[in-house]
Amino acid sequence: MKSYDVAVIGSGPGGYVAAIRCAQLGMKTAIIEKYSTLGGTCLNVGCIPSKALLSSSHHYEDATKHFADHGIEIPGEIKVNLEKMISRKQAVVDQTTGGIDFLMKKNKIDVYEGLGSFKDATHITIDGKDAGEIEAKNIIIATGSKPSNLPFISLDKERIITSTEALKLKEIPKHLMIIGGGVIGLELGQVYRRLGAQVTVIEYMDRILPTMDAALSKELNKVFKKAKCSMMMSHKVQSVERKGDEVIVKAENKKGEIVEFKGDYCLVSVGRRPYTDGLNVEMAGVKTNERGQVEVNEHLQTSASNIYAIGDVVRGAMLAHKAEEEGVFVAETLAGQKPHIDYNLIPGVVYTWPEVAAVGKTEEELKEAGTAYKVGQFPFRALGRARASGDIDGFVKILADKSTDEVLGVHMIGARCADLIAEAVTAMEFRASAEDISRYSHAHPTFAEAVKEAALAATDDRALHV
Ligand code: FAD
Ligand code: NAD
Repeated sequence: MKSYDVAVIGSGPGGYVAAIRCAQLGMKTAIIEKYSTLGGTCLNVGCIPSKALLSSSHHYEDATKHFADHGIEIPGEIKVNLEKMISRKQAVVDQTTGGIDFLMKKNKIDVYEGLGSFKDATHITIDGKDAGEIEAKNIIIATGSKPSNLPFISLDKERIITSTEALKLKEIPKHLMIIGGGVIGLELGQVYRRLGAQVTVIEYMDRILPTMDAALSKELNKVFKKAKCSMMMSHKVQSVERKGDEVIVKAENKKGEIVEFKGDYCLVSVGRRPYTDGLNVEMAGVKTNERGQVEVNEHLQTSASNIYAIGDVVRGAMLAHKAEEEGVFVAETLAGQKPHIDYNLIPGVVYTWPEVAAVGKTEEELKEAGTAYKVGQFPFRALGRARASGDIDGFVKILADKSTDEVLGVHMIGARCADLIAEAVTAMEFRASAEDISRYSHAHPTFAEAVKEAALAATDDRALHV
């Protein structure tokens, strides 16, 4: 039986990054993955394929709706070839997962294909292509998550689907009904709206993206409404039924009335659940909580002292970059270092267009905590760069402590915000004040100038261009 310093179960962004960092730090490392491709949810059926389809559908929308404004004329009809779009997406995925194979080889990490199950706290049995048993001094659980469902919905995965199926549809839905106005619902809803589907978002709460700053929800809701999506807030879904090629969704509105929606596809995107099926955690003395998450302490250590857990399978945001940070954290902890993660500074991004991005506290959270704060906001439409490209929707909003001026939260919606948020994270990591941001030079003309202007607005209402 082969013995390792560390065995990682699951090869998503948490697991594969943990394995690389362990190998970099000189540990003999193995990784076990039940599927034939590495990269987990993120690379195979999450971040990467969804961004590929967002990009393709964005090009289509530009070609059909915006090229003419720029003086670009395309004679004849512009058509979507969905099959080609989906196969391009798959090629991007294949190339990306292939890259992880290369990284495993480069770092001399042994890869086992098969379902990993605990025999005890130091032995894992593998069931699948590389069946057998391995031994490891330390084990990292990085088994991720799967889509959640509502108890009364039977997912047939043909017309009542999750994000996994929505990434490989064979036709553009006529009417896509989406249960859940969170990140998945909005990203994939925008993909299919751009391609011509009628889209209805049915959300239980009174706004989309309910955990983000309310100003972002309001602005993105406007964008979706402008694109003629039906945005049904405060609707509690009661039943989802398939009749032939039709799906019928019934939901209760605020007035207690039952509203019926009919369409040809229904995407259920009401969150994800931690995944430990088949792992036999109890054999290793690892405890899970009532939400199915593996319980960990502040060192990401489980109730078995040599076993750690990271990523979607533990508490906190279900984000690839959070999983990666935790992977590095555990590897460095095992190497005797003292790593640190500031969970308040893990940014959240929604890759719609305009993009939505945020870090730190929302205005709602500051109000609830009784923190005195000031707000600086700047609209993209006031920027030369935004007008030059025609992307004028959105704003940057900076929340700073009223007395110290320290930046407490940055919330933005607009072109390229997914990348702009990195500046806010950096500033907050160094505990910058709004005035600090307002005093460093931002290239002109860029979208980043909105960050500087919002900081000026927060400092003394000193924005220069509004
Ligand atoms: P996962 O990526 O879920 O990987 C876990 C791996 O463990 C899987 O490969 C699984 O097969 C394997 N596994 C499970 N059990 C076993 C076992 N017993 N033995 C062997 N292998 C096992 N996040 C972002 O930050 N940005 C985005 O843009 C983004 N977009 C997304 C879009 C979609 C449609 C979805 C569904 C998710 C998206 N996410 C995004 C979330 C992101 O994918 C997850 O947060 C991330 O993948 C979590 O990483 P992980 O390593 O914890 O788990
Ligand atoms: P989510 O938590 O973002 O959104 C779920 C939405 O469903 C919420 O708005 C919630 O109020 C609503 N909801 C819950 N129950 C409902 C009901 N009965 N009826 C109607 N609405 C209901 O979850 P998601 O969109 O499924 O995404 C899952 C995870 O994947 C998220 O944690 C997210 O972080 C991650 N993800 C991230 C990205 C990204 O970073 N860009 C993209 C996709 C997914």
